[in-house]
Amino acid sequence: MRKPVIAVDGYSSTGKSSISKIIAQKLGLVHMDTGALYRGITYFALTSCRLPDGNINLPALFEQLPQLKLGFRKINEELILFLDGKDITNEIRTKEVSENVSLIASQPQVRDFLLQTQRAIANDGGVILDGRDIGTVVLPDADYKFFLTASIEERTKRRFLELKNLGIEMPEEEVRENLISRDKTDSEREVAPLKQAEDAILIDNSQLTKKETIELLLSYIKEI
Ligand code: C5P
Repeated sequence: MRKPVIAVDGYSSTGKSSISKIIAQKLGLVHMDTGALYRGITYFALTSCRLPDGNINLPALFEQLPQLKLGFRKINEELILFLDGKDITNEIRTKEVSENVSLIASQPQVRDFLLQTQRAIANDGGVILDGRDIGTVVLPDADYKFFLTASIEERTKRRFLELKNLGIEMPEEEVRENLISRDKTDSEREVAPLKQAEDAILIDNSQLTKKETIELLLSYIKEI
């Protein structure tokens, strides 16, 4: 029996990654948080490709992409993101990375560079990838596609608490502005914009707990 390939896309802070992680554990799949890859490149750009005025030097970033040692390592059944041999799990969640990631993710050079990393992992099946363009561009033939949405109030609350748990203090209003601005840039970009695939199942989890959302997704997934 082949294990499924599952695509989970949707708006920021709808719980895509934490929900996908638990579904992966329940079904014995590998989970890849593709947003982490875009955040990893953004972290690299912020630390290594700056112009004298502080802005990101995009041509310098593009030139260095082929040599970039960015990738996941499997540790205790989880994929952990490493850059140049260093675990950057916490570094990619900072405010500065969140504020710059959508600009970096709108660059076709960056998207092309990450496409193979994402597709390679799905070759043998048994994966769940979460992101913005998984069902539309990265894995258009996925066995199951979900698109998650929720009200901005609910998403702001969730993200605020998530950051607090990571030890990052950000006023709620700033959290809300960042979510709105990222969703706008992600939906309006020319390459691989955030949008629901025609054959994706739409799930609004504004009124659902994480557990209920997981149960709902699982109810659609059958053995294949
Ligand atoms: O999922 P997360 O919110 O961590 O993603 C951070 C950013 O990475 C998104 O706002 C988006 O700009 C970009 N992204 C993307 N395509 C994906 C996953 C994430 O453009 N598949």
